[in-house]
Amino acid sequence: MKRESRKTAAFRMTPQRAEILRFLDGNKSHPSAEDIYARLKRKFPGMSFATVYNTLQTLLARRQIAEIKIDPARKRFDPGLTPHSHLFCVRCCLITDLPAGRLAPPKNLPKGFKILSCNIEYYGICPACGRGGNKGEISCAKKKQT
Ligand SMILES: [Zn+2]
Ligand SMILES: [Zn+2]
Repeated sequence: MKRESRKTAAFRMTPQRAEILRFLDGNKSHPSAEDIYARLKRKFPGMSFATVYNTLQTLLARRQIAEIKIDPARKRFDPGLTPHSHLFCVRCCLITDLPAGRLAPPKNLPKGFKILSCNIEYYGICPACGRGGNKGEISCAKKKQT
């Protein structure tokens, strides 16, 4: 008798799941589950938010996407799996990728601690908001879904 965990069962590829993957592939906007749902329900009016949410959880568990917590209001998802840092605009919630550069290890690093990876989250104002192009609220946390 096989004692293999059923948790690693094959990922069933439904049209909705395929569409979620297609939407995320190469997507640099770091969408939230709500963003993905709003976008895809136009094509699949019968699709539920739970389907989107559960698919994202499955993709996360399979390490096909990453979850980023830089946005205080919502979890955002990132299909880019090469290590990189993020710039977050506190006005419009824009998240921009910042390729991981060569960072010098911190000077006060405890002896013997080996650094394996590092993701830095920078909070600031994006160029468009800095020029006054985006006349939004100061905090995007209250931003309404469009
Ligand atoms: Zn901005
Ligand atoms: Zn990213």
